[in-house]
Amino acid sequence: MRRKLAAGNWKMNGLAADLAEAQALAADHGAPGCDILICPPATLLSRMADTLGHAPIALGGQDCHAGAAGAHTGDVSAAMLADAGASHVILGHSERRADHAETDAAVRAKAAAAQAAGLVAVICLGETEADRDAGRTLEVIDRQLAGSLPGGATGANTVIAYEPVWAIGSGRTPTPDQIAEVHAFLRARLTDLMAAEGAAVRLLYGGSVKPGNAAEIFALPEVDGALVGGASLKAADFGAIITALEQA
Ligand code: PEP
Repeated sequence: MRRKLAAGNWKMNGLAADLAEAQALAADHGAPGCDILICPPATLLSRMADTLGHAPIALGGQDCHAGAAGAHTGDVSAAMLADAGASHVILGHSERRADHAETDAAVRAKAAAAQAAGLVAVICLGETEADRDAGRTLEVIDRQLAGSLPGGATGANTVIAYEPVWAIGSGRTPTPDQIAEVHAFLRARLTDLMAAEGAAVRLLYGGSVKPGNAAEIFALPEVDGALVGGASLKAADFGAIITALEQA
């Protein structure tokens, strides 16, 4: 039985004053019926951990270096994220793949580093609009999944987020049939790649999830939750998405 997961990606947003949003979320969801994860910028991680105390909200980084330590100015290791209070890390987000030319091999190395540090890797993949228009969606997803998944991946240390690049921050979402098709494909491929463990990996949908469309998306088969960007910044919006997931 996979427990549902609502994950918020704050991206490069959030100053100390915004910790109040996490606090408000914790106040409204003291005993949630699903797992909740917030991935703030690295600068806020330890302060958010302090602010949340024992609230049932997990914290995550948004990226990590593949190495354990060393001369990598500006980078953060998986162990540093864990030290700051993280239990998860988002890897291979399309903004990192595009802005920092991250390849599947790089994502895989980072996921292995996350595993070694005891973090759950939330590995993102998704097609561009050009891929979809050319009928290459499943081919791209297949390549990204096989290339980004590290050895030793299990349902406990790995989450997969399907995030069509064209749906992120755009207000556009795939049709329910399109989401269901990709999630069914991912589940089948995970079973091929990981045998029985593939059934335990949680599959999130991400891309313009809002309070208004969350229930329809969460009703789809093989959708175990969402990775939410913009709508995770405000406790009221993220809280409404969490409630929709609890009721799904
Ligand atoms: C994301 O960045 O992972 C994301 C899904 O963003 P948004 O919800 O804003 O589309």
